[in-house]
This record gives sequence, structure tokens and C-alpha cells, in this order.
Amino acid sequence: MMPSNKSVSDAPIFQFTNCRILRSHQLQREDLWVREGKILNPEKLFFDEKGSADIQLDCKDSIIAPGFIDVQINGGFGVDFSLAVDDVQSGISLVSQKILSHGVTSFCPTLVTSPPSVYHKVLPQISIRNGGPHGAGILGAHLEGPFISKEKKGAHPEHYLSTFESGAFQDLLATYRHLDCVRIVTLAPEMKRSSEVIQELTRQGICVSLGHSVANLSQAEEAVRHGATFITHLFNAMLPFHHRDPGIVGLLTSDQIPARRRVFYGMISDGIHTNPAALRIAHRAHPKGLVLVTDAIAGMGLAPGKHTLGQQVIEVDGLNTYIAGCTVETALEAASLHPAQLLGIEHRKGTLNYDNDADFLLLDDSLRVRATYIAGERVWSQDTFTI
Ligand SMILES: [Zn+2]
Repeated sequence: MMPSNKSVSDAPIFQFTNCRILRSHQLQREDLWVREGKILNPEKLFFDEKGSADIQLDCKDSIIAPGFIDVQINGGFGVDFSLAVDDVQSGISLVSQKILSHGVTSFCPTLVTSPPSVYHKVLPQISIRNGGPHGAGILGAHLEGPFISKEKKGAHPEHYLSTFESGAFQDLLATYRHLDCVRIVTLAPEMKRSSEVIQELTRQGICVSLGHSVANLSQAEEAVRHGATFITHLFNAMLPFHHRDPGIVGLLTSDQIPARRRVFYGMISDGIHTNPAALRIAHRAHPKGLVLVTDAIAGMGLAPGKHTLGQQVIEVDGLNTYIAGCTVETALEAASLHPAQLLGIEHRKGTLNYDNDADFLLLDDSLRVRATYIAGERVWSQDTFTI
């Protein structure tokens, strides 16, 4: 009997053709193969299973990139996660559905500095879940504050800022109460007892990010030695780069980072928060650490004019801004591979490597999203784009 492609699985095999796929840091003219929601290795299929495609799809010369992972998004489309206290679930659902058109396939809903009662109410409502037609996947919450600097509070309400006192980590626990769904905590490392807190968060597998801070470089390096791996919106809400003490920005070229550790830094992908020249400095100093975030607020996706400039974020324009400073491949990886590495999920997401989740985007040459796929299923597409 002829071996068929059903020898391993009954699930249909999809072959995406006529495309350039981002793999090994380059756009390569290859087909993308998908089965059961995972990226399939066609060589194994041909030689081991003697299988072939059940369905071929012509991508019309699209770029195929891994789905974007946004680790800092405060809301959008009229929803502010920090304000939607009583029904944050439906707020998150709405945003997770709407961001599919921006190419975001998973994200970390982000809460700004809030009183403890808000964390106590909101955090139990956030659950980690896979993406699908209902919306982008939820990787866990990003809590930005309240353990941040008064001097660099930005838009965070000063009244609710907090410090670590005698309890250190217990103070953090009393504030947030629920850590099950928490993936990232942004704090200011110059606060007393922050070292203990950073160590404990790291021990629990929670990513510590430095931001809204007046830390000098040695304080930032100490935080990294204790486990911090991320910098929240580099350049914004921290001491400006100074040649005698470059502050947190100095982590990009520090020689005090422990071996085999990489510090990542978030940059807001709107071309407004950071001058493109500053972006190029950061990127040339430390290209593998760049993570694009939207830092979007409730105004994202609503009609322009109603909301403050600088808070409106359009992912695609952001990516194009980045192409002015780096290559297409780099911009795409900064929105997919790097955030996945930051969260330690690159074996599942953020690349088109074999066996990874088939979360990917079809983009035109201007990096406009034509279609968004999660687990191999098309979850959004432009009206004019059919394959
Ligand atoms: Zn911030």
C-alpha cells in the first residue's frame, strides 16, 4: 500500500506558496508548511511520511513573518485595562480581537500604577489563554508601577506610587495580591530593597523590567545581576544619557552584564516617542535587544483628533519608522523574535521554526498586514485580500 500523508496525522496539510518567509534572520523564498496549528518541516513530510500538501494557498508574493508579540499595551479602541475594573475581561476581549488587524497574535495586557483595590479586582480576571478567531493570545499581565520613581512618573498617578518598606517582596504581594497571571513587572531599581524583590520575582519566573526610574548605571547593573532582563520604553521616563553616567541607557553597552544574559529594551513603535537618530544609536549599540511595543492607550484605533498626539499608535507606521533605522528583517524580528526571547517562549512563538505555533502574518512590501493567522487558522484579513 502506498504510504500517504495520513500516516502520522489525519489533519490537512497547508502549503503557503509564492511568498518570502522570515527564517534565520532573513527573508527567504520558501514555502511555509502548516499542520495541526504548527509549522511543519517539509523535508520530514516528503522523506519520512512521503506526504504532500492537501491545500495550496497562493500568497501573492506576500512577506510571511511571525505574528507580533506586544509586551506593553495599556488598552485601545476605547478600553483602558486599568480603568475597566468591573469588567476588564470584556475589555481585554475587545482589544485582543481588534489588534489582530495590526498583526498582533499575542500580548501582555498592561496596567499602569493603580491603587491596590484595582489590582485585587482586575488581576483575577486576567487569564493566560491561547489566541484564535476570538482574538490574540494573552501571555500574562505587565504591571507597570506602582513601585516607580516620583521624579519619572510620567502619566502615572503620583498618589498611588508606592515603595518597598520592611516587607520588601511582601509589600509587592500586598499591593498586587495575585501574581498567577503576571508576566512582567516594571519597577525602579534605585528603590531601597528592590534587589530582594527583583530576585524573588525572577525566581518565580516573572520578568523584571527597569523603568520610570532615576537609577544610575551601577544601580541598573546591580538590578540586572539580580535578574532584571528588560528596560521599559528606553529613553522615556529615565535619566537622559550622560557620558559620565549613562544611567539605564548604559546597559545597552555595559560590560557588567552576566555571561549568557541579554538585556532587552522596549521602544515605542510610533516614531514620535523617540527621535529616529536616538533609535539608531540604540539599535546599532545593541541590535539583538530591541523589542517593539505599542504602549497603546485607550485612544488607539479610534478616530484621530480626539486623543493626545503621541498616544496614537499605528503598528505599521511604527514598523516603517524602524525600517528607516534598520532592515525589514530587523524590524519584524523586533516585534516577534525578540519579545518571544524576552519572555522565554521562543521555542513556541516568535519564529517560523519547525514545530512552533503557526502564528504568522502575510504582509505586503510596505509591511501592511494583509492577513493574520493563529495556530494555522486565518483570524483576520484585509477585505481586498483573498487567498
Ligand atoms: Zn511607562
